[in-house]
Order: sequence, then structure tokens, then C-alpha cells
Amino acid sequence: ETGANVKRKRVSEDSPARTHQSQLQQKRIKLLDSRKQLPIWQRQKNIRDALRDHDVLILSGETGSGKSTQVPQFLLDQPWCGFPGKIAVTQPRRVAAISLARRVAEEMGTPLGSSSPASKVGYSVRFDESTSPSTRIKFLTEGMLLQEMLRDASLSQYKCVIVDEVHERSVNIDLILGFLKQLQTRRKDLKVVVMSATADADSLQRFFAAQILEDTQHDPKPVSSDSRANGDPEMDADDASWHGFGDEVQRSSSNIATCHVEGRQYPVITRYLDNPTEDTIEAALHRIFQIHCKEPTPGDLLVFMTGQEAIQSLQKLVEEYALGLTTDYPKMLVLPLFAALPQAAQQLIFQPAPRNTRKVILTTNIAETSVTVPGVRFVVDTGKAKVKQFRNRLGLDSLLVKQISKSSADQRKGRAGREAAGQCYRLYTEEAYKSLDKDSTPEVLRCDLSQAVLTMKARGVGDVLRFPLLTPPPKEAMEKALLQLLELGALDEHGNISPIGRKIARLPLTPALGRVIIEAATSEMDCLVEVIDIVACLSVEHIFLAIDTDEGREKAQVARRQLLRRQGDHLSYLAAVQAYAAEQSDRRRWADDHMISHRAMQSVMDERIVKCFLRGFSSNVARACPDGSYKTFAGNQTVAIHPSSVLFGRKVEAILYNQFVYTNKAYARDVSVVQLRWLEEALDGMA
Ligand code: ADP
Repeated sequence: ETGANVKRKRVSEDSPARTHQSQLQQKRIKLLDSRKQLPIWQRQKNIRDALRDHDVLILSGETGSGKSTQVPQFLLDQPWCGFPGKIAVTQPRRVAAISLARRVAEEMGTPLGSSSPASKVGYSVRFDESTSPSTRIKFLTEGMLLQEMLRDASLSQYKCVIVDEVHERSVNIDLILGFLKQLQTRRKDLKVVVMSATADADSLQRFFAAQILEDTQHDPKPVSSDSRANGDPEMDADDASWHGFGDEVQRSSSNIATCHVEGRQYPVITRYLDNPTEDTIEAALHRIFQIHCKEPTPGDLLVFMTGQEAIQSLQKLVEEYALGLTTDYPKMLVLPLFAALPQAAQQLIFQPAPRNTRKVILTTNIAETSVTVPGVRFVVDTGKAKVKQFRNRLGLDSLLVKQISKSSADQRKGRAGREAAGQCYRLYTEEAYKSLDKDSTPEVLRCDLSQAVLTMKARGVGDVLRFPLLTPPPKEAMEKALLQLLELGALDEHGNISPIGRKIARLPLTPALGRVIIEAATSEMDCLVEVIDIVACLSVEHIFLAIDTDEGREKAQVARRQLLRRQGDHLSYLAAVQAYAAEQSDRRRWADDHMISHRAMQSVMDERIVKCFLRGFSSNVARACPDGSYKTFAGNQTVAIHPSSVLFGRKVEAILYNQFVYTNKAYARDVSVVQLRWLEEALDGMA
């Protein structure tokens, strides 16, 4: 070899890309040992064999046994997966989708998502798609898989869809299971894995074994046989409704394998309160310090709270009190965990605590099964969670604080015994535990079905009454939903989805409210801004504080005199929001003076801004990129802030703009700062 050659070679070996590659490989090898320790590792062959011989695998196993991270990797090199066959893994939450993708990429020694064209593992969540041309395993939220079905009802890019966390039984999960069951009659090459943290394989097995019912298409439109046979991925959403379940007759059922993975579970001591308490924040605070100061065993704390607000209040309190601890005690590191938390903050929970420090993680039910937090030895459980509930009075779904089920309480407790023996403190009495429902009611039985029915219609289901659902709701409830959609104009007289129905289906709102927004945005009506304020009031807790005495009512009448409108509540809400928004000095005081809930008003203000995006959020929002440019969410187009904007030269997380102008380059004009969190929160909350 010549000297020059040797030199060139040395340079390429030391190149940054090369170094990065070898770092990835080192990490992969390091992680392999811990993967081999996971209970699921022993079942690798069973799982591969099961899917070689069957269409469906129902896999149950304790949280942390390795289902989500390992199963996609076990299957990737299977002959039926082909190349470049992709595997989709659905997750109920963004946090889980992103953190699992990151973890699996590390385990495989591949870069994550869009960071490199060679990356094999990616994710897709609302407003954040990180995939590459080589992506083979894609973690995505349930909502995103349903979105992909609008473009390609056959999910033709996937050879396998893994539906994770099925025990949660959200409507989205139930819909996905139904779609996959139908799809398997058309796509014999599609494998389905259903994973659950509870061992109720029976009902799932019966569901997949049951024969599929004929779906009668109402749509009289002629369908070109070509596009139907090919499941043409180029077809746009408007064509999806005649995209092909139409000629389904009774087909033989899928063949199904089941597998249960025993988890590693150490004993957990359970303690209850002697007397019930109303103030769970106070009770949690007390318990956290009791454990921290009295328990000599090391190990982190996991505290289950209802939601973001409670978590943030408790975090403030714990941090305040922790300042008063003497140096005799370990330090405390308080970390919140909820769906709307920015990604970087979410990742902190996976890192080990610094020396002489105990992590105190305050979480929603995300950490119940969806996210495994290492190092936890103590669980504090308030016994409550926010659940979606249909409220007839308002005609919309809202999030209400409810008692959890026994199986949720047991899952929470189990988090304390993953790595060693642990303790679980329940902030309720043993009697209260005994009176909890065994399992949570599936969401499909407690929510408004019009959204679910519209979801089916937008994805080509003709006869929704025959759509396979794991827990079929009463026929009357489905018929009521159909009727409502017809009245809203979302369906035509043949029961097919209308153009308006398609628009509504894209909004993260109930169909009724979606219809209201679309109407308001028409040129004849042109009152979108006002309507958004009213819709926001309807979606939060009641803004006018409840009063139950005659005397109080009179007082309230006087206090709210200027806000009340003869026409009724809706316009009174609007007047209240407008007056609140105009208040410059002290909004809290203003709210107190008018006997209005300040907290509800704050939520309205957040939603009010965010809902403005509904008109065109897909094209008018852009997010900052590391190189200082902004990229639109839709189309990934680069835009710069126009020099005429007060924001010119500033770097913010994301922007909303009214105008897109092109001079020497693409500019956004009339620009406002938006926080990604606002968007995500409001949209997730409303979805
Ligand atoms: P399951 O799906 O059965 O609940 P997972 O595959 O999610 O199990 O997790 C298996 C193990 O992988 C966990 O116990 C944890 O140790 C590790 N793990 C999973 N995700 C992460 C992550 N984002 N960061 C670090 N470790 C992780």
C-alpha cells in the first residue's frame, strides 16, 4: 500500500460517522445482556413459531416482561416479514411511542428515525413523524394508525401490526382490532399481534375466531375493479369509502395462537388508610415524606395522581418541603410524568437518580402499564384517574376524575415489585379497595359513539352494525349515532359519508362540535372566533360557579349582571370569555368578583387559542428545527419569519402565521408564538 492510501484509510476509520457507528454498536452489545434477562427472551422461539403458523398471536404478560421492546425485533427477520416489510406497533400515548422507538433503536444499534437515512426504527405521533426510507419498525399512536388508514385502507406497507396495551380498551384500540380483523380476510399475508398486560386472552381469542359478517356496501357508486383489487395506496381519502370491504362474504376465521409470559414479580406489601380522605394531594405529600425519611431501603417512589394539574401542585409542595430537609436525608429529585410533558422532560424518568438522591416520580396512569420506570420500590396510589365519559347534558365527552378499577390498582401496586420486594401505599381504605369494580368499563360502552361511527365510515365500512367490535355496544346506541350523523349532514341518505363528514372526521372534536365549527367558518356565518370561545366553554368544567341557595343566586345575578345575555347560556359564556380576555389587571380577582371559576377560564383561554388552529392548523403552523429554520407540520416545507414581524430574528418553539408569502424565499407573515404543548394538550384532550 502506498503511504497516501494508508493515510486515507486511517482518516476514514476515524471519521465522525464511523465513530458514531461504532458507538452505536458498543451500546447494542452492552444492552444485549439485559435483553437476555427479560422474561420474554425465553419465549423467542415460541413467538416466532406461533406467527409462522398462525395469522394472529395473542400475547399476555406482566408489564416490563419485554413485550413492546422485544417482540418486533423477534419478528423482523422472519421469512413472512420479507424485505422491506414493515412492522407497526401501536401505543396509546406519545410518550410510550417515542421512548420505545428510542430504546429499540439503541438495542438494534441503529440511529433513530429521521436522524439518518439508514435508520431502521422510527416513530409517528401527532405533529412529529420521525422515520427514514429504511424504517422497518415503526412505533405509532393509535390515532396515527387510524390516520394512515385514511390514506391506505389496506395498510399495504406493513406485514405485521402489533397492537400493544390492549387491556386499556380505548375506542381506538377496539376500532383498530375490528379493522385488522376485517383486513385479514383481504390480506392473507398480514400478521396481527395483540399484546396485553392482563391475561384475559379468552375474549380476544373468541373475537378473532368469530366469523366475519358480510359488510353490505350502500354506496351505489361504481368501483373500478383495478383500484379495489390493488388496494391502490395512491387513492386519496375521498375514495376510501368505496375501498373495498364490499364484497366480503362469510370467510373462515383467522387461526390464532396464544402465549403467556410470566413476569418477574417480587412481593409487594400493601398498606391502606384507616380513614378515607378527600384531600389526596395532602395525603400524598404526607406519605411521600414518611417514606423518604423513615424508609432506610433505597429505591425510587412512583406516585399515581389524576392529572397534570394535581401533579404540578404536588410537585411544587414536595419541592418546597424538600428544601427544609437536613443533610441527614438523601436528596429528592421530583419528576412529573404526563402525556403533555415535553419529550426531553419525559426522558428524564428513565435515567438513574444521581448519587444519594431518591427520584420521586409523579405520574398519571401513563406509568400504570404503558411506560416502565426503572428503580421503583415504593408506589403511592391515590386510587383515582381521569377518564373520558359521555355527558348527555352537554352532548359531549369530557374527562372526569373517577375511581380506578381493582385491576388498575393491582397494576399500580405491581410497579413496586419489578426489581426487588417493594411497598404500595394506597391512599384509600381497604373497604374502598374491595368495593372497586373488577375491571374498567371499555370506553366504547361509556362514550358517544358518533365519533367512532364516523371513524368507521371515513375508512370505508359500509354497514357499521356489522363491524366487529370486541364489546359490541347496544344496537340502539349505534343507531342513535348513525341518526345523529345523518342529522349533522355527515352522512347522506344512503348512509355514506358526505364531504362535510370527511371534514368533520379530520377534526379532533365530537362530530356535533366539529359540525358547529365548520358551519361557523362558512362565509355566510363567518363567526368562527366567537364560536370557538363558546365551544371551549362547553369543553371545560362549568365556568359559572355553582350556587345552591336562593340568596347566593341573587348575589350571583348582581355580580354577573353585565355578562348575562337574554338569549341564554351560550351567549353569556361568550360575553364572559370576552370580558375576561379584555381584563388587563387582575384576572383572578375579576373571576372572584363575578363568581366565575378562574381555573375553568384559564382552560378556556388555552383552548381558545388552540382551537383557532382548527381552521387550518395543518398548513399554518411551523416548528423550529435545530438549524434555526422553521418547517411546516404539513408538507415539511421550510419557512422563515418575515422581517416585518416583531418576532423576526427570534427563535421560538413553534409559530402560527396568517400569511405565507414567497419573495426570494418562503416567508411567514403575521406570526405568533405557539407552544407545542398547547397544541398537543388541547388536541389530545379533545381527541
Ligand atoms: P412490556 O412491554 O412487557 O411492558 P417493555 O418491552 O416495555 O416491556 O420493557 C422491557 C424492559 O426494557 C423494561 O423493564 C426496561 O428495563 C427496559 N426499557 C423499556 N423502555 C425503556 C426506555 N425507554 N429506556 C430504558 N429502558 C427501557
